[in-house]
Amino acid sequence: MFNEKVMKLLNEQITKEFYSAYLYLHFANYYEEQGLKGFANWFTVQAQEERDHALLFTKYMQNNEIKVTFEAIAKPDTELKEHMDALKASLTHEQFVTASIHTIYEAAYEARDFRTMQFLDWFVKEQAEEEMNSSDNIKKMELFGTDSKGLYMLDQEMGTRMYAPPSLVL
Ligand code: MG
Repeated sequence: MFNEKVMKLLNEQITKEFYSAYLYLHFANYYEEQGLKGFANWFTVQAQEERDHALLFTKYMQNNEIKVTFEAIAKPDTELKEHMDALKASLTHEQFVTASIHTIYEAAYEARDFRTMQFLDWFVKEQAEEEMNSSDNIKKMELFGTDSKGLYMLDQEMGTRMYAPPSLVL
């Protein structure tokens, strides 16, 4: 019942989500090196969420007997020179992921694959949240990050983020 194009895009999304996790670990590592452990925590939690997304796509495919192939995950090579860089790169990356989710949705819609559309609904909503969070981080850094006290407080706040498993259960 599944369309070839939809199956291919779902499989590609697994790699993109794992890459997101890897990219955010790269950002976390940068902040760790900078002594900003709160930011490092925020991006480590984000990486865990991205891994969960990859697992959700994997599980959805397995549940529906669609063949899963794990492809190579690229090296995260975003150059980080200042504290703002990773925040801006996150927003750009999330916009890329949103477009990717929408592309799968469009293919599912064209194929009248209502099951995949329903599965993707959660991700459409999730992406809106991811973009908002990335955008909020940029705004906070613009407002407070230029002052060392402000940066310290912001780092404390980023440090309070805790991992929670995804609300979508398959
Ligand atoms: Mg994701």
